[in-house]
Amino acid sequence: MSTQNTHLHIDGVSKNFGDVKALSNIDLKIERGSFVCLLGPSGCGKTTLLRIIAGFESASSGRLLLDGSDIAQVPPHKRGFGMVFQSLALFPHMSVARNIAYGLKLRGVSGKEQRDRVEELLNVIQLPSIADRPVSALSGGQRQRVAIARALAIQPKLFLLDEPLSALDAKLRDNMQIELRQLQQKFGVTTILVTHDQHEAMMLADELVVLKDGAVRQSAAPSVVYQQPADSFVADFLGAANLINVGSVQGGQVQLLGKLTAVDTAHADNTMMQAAVRAEHISLAPVAQAGGAAVGTIEFMRDLGPSTEIVVAVDGESLRVRSPNVDCQGLSIGTQVAVSVDPSQVSVFKA
Ligand code: ATP
Repeated sequence: MSTQNTHLHIDGVSKNFGDVKALSNIDLKIERGSFVCLLGPSGCGKTTLLRIIAGFESASSGRLLLDGSDIAQVPPHKRGFGMVFQSLALFPHMSVARNIAYGLKLRGVSGKEQRDRVEELLNVIQLPSIADRPVSALSGGQRQRVAIARALAIQPKLFLLDEPLSALDAKLRDNMQIELRQLQQKFGVTTILVTHDQHEAMMLADELVVLKDGAVRQSAAPSVVYQQPADSFVADFLGAANLINVGSVQGGQVQLLGKLTAVDTAHADNTMMQAAVRAEHISLAPVAQAGGAAVGTIEFMRDLGPSTEIVVAVDGESLRVRSPNVDCQGLSIGTQVAVSVDPSQVSVFKA
């Protein structure tokens, strides 16, 4: 990433709350116009990082450089960032139009310009006819869109969102993810969104930042994080990965599935290793076709519609297998199957 394109540089930011180290030495360069998701389990520090960016919290050490300028001394309302939180914080008694225009009014924008901008945004969020309704009369999804429109109305330098969709039901959340991504692209606004939902992060992000215990474990495009996880935590957090203890490196390789599959590694011989294999990368075949593959026994099966979820016991491990194309004819609990994996689909890490 070229420095010229860096919009926000989070430069060695740490944050302590008394003895709690909420963030340790976070270093991220956020590219102009990109959509960045901060992803991680509860307590990993994602909200703290967003609050520091917003200016509600100050860093214990490190700097925030917006277009190269340190913004530590700039108060939140002068940063010019648009924000949406889970609680939305709309004014329920005010109309939709007044909610969306709120930030414009504070900035002294003329009445006509406010009305034009509100109209434009209501069209963008596909709710042109609700301007005069009180927010209290809207559905959850409509409120969500209004909160997003209000944040975008001020043409923010950065668009910051903290779990904005987590209060919505699953189907609405799916739709809103697509809308949010489309809106972000239309406005071209640099966006940072906090979520603990890996599917949401994969749907939205150009750059996925995986945090654990206040530190960045991996920061890359979603497909890279998914296909080349940096460690076993990332592999496990992003989708159903099977973590397998594979013993030590011998001759530049680790062995799994009854030592019938070998994976090359650059780690030194005798290093203890772990392997991660995604559920959808394990293949099953009738045992008669086992050839050089390991033989396992089916422990659990469930037809999920578009795919089938299977647990197979092999080589002392219970592996999760998920496939849209496993031919389940003749398979049931207790059936023996040939189990194989393409070595290129196996990630290996130091145990
Ligand atoms: P969640 O998904 O549950 O919101 P998170 O990843 O956003 O979690 P943070 O809220 O950033 O995590 O919290 C990171 C750590 O800092 C946690 O251990 C939390 O208890 C601690 N923490 C956050 N805010 C404060 C505070 N104001 N005072 C003391 N400790 C805090």
